[in-house]
Amino acid sequence: MPSYDPNNIFAKILRGELPSYKVYEDDKVLAFLDIMPRSPGHTLVLPKAPARNMLDVTPDDIAHVMTVVQKVAKAQMKAFAADGVTVQQFNEGAGGQVVFHLHVHVIPRKAGVAMKPPASEKEKPDVLADCAAKLTAALTG
Ligand code: 5GP
Repeated sequence: MPSYDPNNIFAKILRGELPSYKVYEDDKVLAFLDIMPRSPGHTLVLPKAPARNMLDVTPDDIAHVMTVVQKVAKAQMKAFAADGVTVQQFNEGAGGQVVFHLHVHVIPRKAGVAMKPPASEKEKPDVLADCAAKLTAALTG
């Protein structure tokens, strides 16, 4: 497996070099909205420590990431009146991974509504800002 590349796009977001619609942060984890959401509120949860994917992350970091995934999923049910939540995580190109800093997709679902295809359309900034505000309120409320 290739080594971690500190110039991947999520590393730049973690360092504050690129913007994101942040919804949750603690000392070990950051969560922000996917800019090409597969449904409104699609969130990415990642460890702050460098890890390419599930194959090199420390057990402590992945455990904490999954704790935050659960928090985000519960908040999405409330914030988006969701009927369910899809959780996805991809490892290496062959496993469907495109950005090589570990992240877990947390995607709110409505009954009978299909997810958009991956990376199909960049969402409008005002829609992302509205989703981030709703989710942040549900996470902190
Ligand atoms: P994966 O590596 O899990 O296959 O997919 C990477 C995900 O990152 C995709 O869902 C894509 O929409 C999202 N993505 C790609 N570039 C950016 C970006 O600059 N900002 C954010 N927030 N998401 C991104």
